[in-house]
Amino acid sequence: MTYTVVKHTGSHYLVSPLPLWEPVSCVVRGKIRLKGSATTNPIAVGDKVEVVDGVIGVVHPRKNYIIRKSSNLSRQEHIIAANLDSAFLIVTMVLPETRWVFIDRFLMTCEAYKIPVVIVLNKMDIQRKLAPEAVTRFKEVYEGAGYRVWETSALTGEGVDRLRRAVCGPSSSPDSGGSVSLFSGISGVGKSTLINALDADLKLRTGVLSDYHLKGKHTTTFYEMFPVAGGFVIDSPGIKGFGLVEVGKEEVYHFFPEIFKAAANCRYNPCTHTHEPDCAVLAALASGDISPERYESYVKILEEEGGKYR
Ligand code: GDP
Ligand code: ZN
Repeated sequence: MTYTVVKHTGSHYLVSPLPLWEPVSCVVRGKIRLKGSATTNPIAVGDKVEVVDGVIGVVHPRKNYIIRKSSNLSRQEHIIAANLDSAFLIVTMVLPETRWVFIDRFLMTCEAYKIPVVIVLNKMDIQRKLAPEAVTRFKEVYEGAGYRVWETSALTGEGVDRLRRAVCGPSSSPDSGGSVSLFSGISGVGKSTLINALDADLKLRTGVLSDYHLKGKHTTTFYEMFPVAGGFVIDSPGIKGFGLVEVGKEEVYHFFPEIFKAAANCRYNPCTHTHEPDCAVLAALASGDISPERYESYVKILEEEGGKYR
């Protein structure tokens, strides 16, 4: 029987035959290595597995997955979640500040695996008061690049109904697997509070912002899937160092939709869109069709990693 991994707690996995929510505990005997994989956790939340007598035997191929590197020095990757139907990136401009390059890396990952993504600007109750210009510019930049930006407040309930309908998802009919969404974002942006607001039956632990750094404390340590309002949500702890697998330097721009679109008219191919004559991307930057903020992220990602982790 096929189950979905809903939680990993060291030696045990909790699995459920989604869309039914009936989690049972099981184990892995020996090593299950996915072919060609350098990951530290071969089985991740969201994986579809075959279970016989409480033992996971087979991991089905993933339709997509999101990874992060274990550390800067290591080349090992850690699979955060697999088989996502959608991703919600929760951000705030202040308290805490989400860096835009973090957002762009996450969006790149979603582009690479064709995971529909919504940017959720949370804590609007305080964002509007404390950082009105940043909010306006943020929406201009990301809506301009073709992304959905939804405004929410877990505190006042603003935008929560729309989010709930989206989480329930188009594939949540009883004969489908149930829609699986990833909620991501740095620590303290209100992920757990927002997920709790979506479903009255849930009580995820939420954190208190520490006064000193105004950064959220880590309140979630394991990736875990929850049944939320008819769909399934994976909450993730504050994430640093999102990476992409197998994206070469010359491919980074493929995952910035507005840059990719403009690049069709560059004179040279390949073009890095940094200095070449008659570069259509530089022209679009000059005319304002591509925002300097997004372009800056593109260049940073090119320089930092060459977009490559191996
Ligand atoms: P997480 O680390 O992303 O899961 O963040 P939490 O859900 O633990 O929330 C961090 C802090 O932000 C808590 O003190 C929440 O009460 C607060 N918070 C969450 N959502 C909102 C919101 O919409 N408005 C305001 N003002 N505070 C919020
Ligand atoms: Zn170019």
